[in-house]
Formats: sequence, C-alpha cells, structure tokens
Amino acid sequence: MHTPLFPIVEDARASLVNGTLYVVATPIGNVADISLRALAVLSAAHIVCAEDTRVTGQLLSRYGLHSKLVSVREHNECAMAEKICGWLAEGQIVAQVSDAGTPAVSDPGARLVHAVRAAGYPVCPIPGACAAVTALAGSGITTSDWLFHGFLPPKSTARCKQLAQWQDAPYAVVLYEAPHRMADCTHDIAATLGADRQVTLGRELTKTFETLRTLPAGELAAWVASDSNQQRGECVLIIDAAPAVIANNAIDAQAEHTLRVLMAELPPKQAAKLTATLTGVPRDALYQLAVSWKQGPADESN
Ligand code: SAM
Repeated sequence: MHTPLFPIVEDARASLVNGTLYVVATPIGNVADISLRALAVLSAAHIVCAEDTRVTGQLLSRYGLHSKLVSVREHNECAMAEKICGWLAEGQIVAQVSDAGTPAVSDPGARLVHAVRAAGYPVCPIPGACAAVTALAGSGITTSDWLFHGFLPPKSTARCKQLAQWQDAPYAVVLYEAPHRMADCTHDIAATLGADRQVTLGRELTKTFETLRTLPAGELAAWVASDSNQQRGECVLIIDAAPAVIANNAIDAQAEHTLRVLMAELPPKQAAKLTATLTGVPRDALYQLAVSWKQGPADESN
C-alpha cells in the first residue's frame, strides 16, 4: 500500500501468518465496501489468486495496491491447488478473491480451500460483501430461516420444477439471476408459487441504480416485464416463506395465550374469531392453530 496505512490496517498486517491462504471478500459494486482487514491481506499478500486478473487488478489499483496476481478460475482451480500448496509450504501469504463478493458463494473458491485444508495448510476467511446477505438485510423479510439457492436452471421447465419445491417452504429462498432472464424467472415464480407470494428484488445493490422492491409475485413479474431497466444489471430475488407460515409466525405469545383461554369455553372457529378481534392476528392462522391443538396428540389442555 503506497498511502499511509491506518494503524488498524497495520495491526492487521502484523497479525498475518505466513503460509496461510486468506479467502478475501471484495465489494459487490461500491468500492468502499471493503474491510480494513481485507486491505491488510491484499496489501501484504505475496500472491493474490483472482478469478479474472483484470477485474481484480482494477480493484486493487483503486486502493493503490499492485500485488502480484495469478489467475485461478473454475477450470484450473484443482490444478492450481498443488502450486498454491507449494507457495504456502515456502511460507508465502496467499490471498484468494473472486470477481466480486465472497468467494465460494456462486463463485469458484471452495475446491481450492478444500484442497489446501486437506493438505494441512491453514485457511483464514476474511468476511465482507455478499449479494445474498446484502439483499436479505434490505428486504425487511421477517422469516427467520432462509435458504441460499443461487442460480436457478436457465430453462423454464427445470426452473418451474425447482420452484415448485418451495410451494410450502417455511423459509425464505434467496436466488441469484442473470438480468436477461429476470422477466422469465419472475413470470415463472408467479406461475408456480402463486401471484400473491411475496418476492423481493434487490438490483444493482450498493451501486448508483440500487433498487429494492417487495411485491406480490404477480405484480413483480408485470413490473419487470414492463420496465426494461429491471432487466439490466445484477439481481437477487428473495421468495418469502409460504403465506401460511408467515401468518403462523405472526402469532405471538399473547395471542396464543388468549386463544388457549377462549378455547376452554368456545369451539375453535369462535375462539379464533374473538382472538383475531382482540389481538389483530389473522383469523385463519389462529383457526389453523386451534384446530391443530384439537387434533394434536400432545394437546391435554383442550
Ligand atoms: N460471490 C458473489 C457474492 O458473494 O454475492 C456472487 C457471485 S455470482 C457469480 C454473481 C451474481 O451475484 C449476480 O449474477 C447477481 O445475481 C448477484 N450479485 C452480485 N452483485 C450484485 C449486486 N451488486 N446487486 C445484486 N446482485 C448482485
């Protein structure tokens, strides 16, 4: 690094261990989204393994860094692993980056890490930007569980088959999608999971034309189809959990207690209706819970 280093970066540089592979996350758009520790590694590394050396070279030069770059891509990842283990054996500090975001997340990296760890050399991940997590953070989705799927199949039949598996998912599903497939993909989500399923689009995150929008799938598909800007740039889609699951999650402890008390005196339908009026929780979700108590083997209280 040619510019004066922050003391924190200097400390981070001092703590680097020779003979270690550092797996470094880089920005997904905004060049400022890099950690001080990542800068410490990238400035100190003897070798930076990059997916595309031109892309990483440009990024490094924005930080005033001119580290030695070697190309490690999907097709040569396994072959390069042996060479990289040789450099680690010599005590060199090796960094691995992908074009953007976190290596191994829909990007090369995992096979190299596997090989290096199997050969007994230390691997140290340096956390940072990831499009999936960035989209989740901005989505407002309250479902606590989520599944990262990455890219769907490019052909509609296979895509719909995959989507159908999430019909009743109790978790949100995070997808990456290429811009030229956005219209077809959002159409297939609405057709397979229903026009009312909530979907968030995160487009061009951290960049000038950042877009974050949550809509029922049918409306999102219509919007994407009618606005060609939504078919440009980089996109994350988050399909929320099945509606019944979201409604159930809305039943807080107070609503559950009210329902239990009323269930002692009333049939499920009336108990659910009254509880909905008292608590504001959707009646259908309360009714389903009340029925499950009636049917459930562990339901001694009703
Ligand atoms: N390793 C990266 C990560 O940590 O997110 C993902 C690499 S994957 C090859 C590229 C895909 O990530 C894009 O097609 C897009 O779906 C998503 N992506 C990357 N940058 C993005 C951004 N700034 N906004 C929205 N999606 C992005």
